[in-house]
Amino acid sequence: MKKRPFVTLEKLQEITAQYPTPFHLYDEKGIRENARALLEAFSWNRGFKEFFAVKATPNPFLISILREYGCGCDCSSMTELEMAKAVGCRKGDVMFSSNDTPAEEFAYADRIGGIINLDDITHIPFVEEALGRIPETISCRYNPGGLFRISNDIMDNSGDAKYGMTTEQIFEAFRILKAKGARNFGIHAFLASNTVTNEYYPMLAKVMFELAVKLEKETGGHITFINLSGGIGIPYSPDQDPNDIHAIGEGVRKVYEEVLVPAGMGDVAIYTELGRFMMGPYGCLVTKAIHEKHTHKEYIGVDACAVNLMRPAMYGAYHHITVMGKEKQVCDHLYDVTGSLCENNDKFAIDRYLPKIDMGDLLVIHDTGAHGFAMGYNYNGKLKSSEILLKEDGSFRLIRRAETAKDYFATFDCFPDVYKKLLEDEPV
Ligand SMILES: *Cc1c(COP(=O)(O)O)cnc(C)c1O
Repeated sequence: MKKRPFVTLEKLQEITAQYPTPFHLYDEKGIRENARALLEAFSWNRGFKEFFAVKATPNPFLISILREYGCGCDCSSMTELEMAKAVGCRKGDVMFSSNDTPAEEFAYADRIGGIINLDDITHIPFVEEALGRIPETISCRYNPGGLFRISNDIMDNSGDAKYGMTTEQIFEAFRILKAKGARNFGIHAFLASNTVTNEYYPMLAKVMFELAVKLEKETGGHITFINLSGGIGIPYSPDQDPNDIHAIGEGVRKVYEEVLVPAGMGDVAIYTELGRFMMGPYGCLVTKAIHEKHTHKEYIGVDACAVNLMRPAMYGAYHHITVMGKEKQVCDHLYDVTGSLCENNDKFAIDRYLPKIDMGDLLVIHDTGAHGFAMGYNYNGKLKSSEILLKEDGSFRLIRRAETAKDYFATFDCFPDVYKKLLEDEPV
């Protein structure tokens, strides 16, 4: 499928006149349409709820848009919990799917009405001590081990993943939790990431629904929700077809009717914790070409770097690039598109055919709406960019300012002499 930016060159010129590149730009219209489509696809399930994976795009303004569609938050750390509370999450709106969790985070999650999703059986006494009790509603994360396959494709190696409890442990955990007063149980599993197939969720649902029936029968723990977690992917590459969320919803419904309904469990709520699917395509990184270099290869240097988008450097991930205003030109120039880090993996594209790029051209790096800005870091003393929302009416709004040197130096305030000198050249 041909990939088109959600923003025009004219609009970008208007935005860059006000805010310097690089920045992440988000598409309000796309976010809203997609959220509506997800709700519709699962409208057959009365208790359906999406808990947006905050780690994918931790911006309160964007999460507030999803809140309008009834989405809660899936959190995995203290600051994510604080953000969920700040956007108005109340009892039942927060899923705390953490791992290796400090005691005070369990306590805080519980205090704000979050549902604790236990990553391990040993977390039962740990949570009991942190909270002084076991919550009435609690969830257990499952890891079946082995390879997770869809027909002949290996989706992921669960046996190698640090998350979740074994089959034996989850049965034992249910028994212990029940004895300690838990009344409403949930189960959760995340077995494959960025799946671009309509089959992943239905396959996962079958594993989870069959487990749920057995768990309830053998332990008497009443299951009220099944959390299919994240993992629905997006087509980063133009030769991939996007997932059809309606087909996915229908696929899950079919398994629900085959497995849960006959077992008398037709009231179980389906929960999701999607991140990438909710935001990925509705964000892009806007950057400007500032250098060209002709050595053993042809290089285009841009003003963004891996601290703005780590996925290419970290996973060799493909992100499509559009040279704005040159969409109709032939891609007959072979480039490496690089950032400025002193790291040779700081490349947004390697051996990519693009139209001839001139200095000052604006490049749109696609699909950075999830796990983009969020994975940012400060290596080489680089500062994080701003985030801007392109609204439905075509206007735009800053939803996170760019980091300044002052922000970067702020934690040296324990060292007043140096701190003062560091700020000498900074605007106050
Ligand atoms: C990362 C994560 C998600 C979201 O994953 P996506 O690939 O963005 O859908 C959901 N749940 C948990 C527990 C996660 O760690």
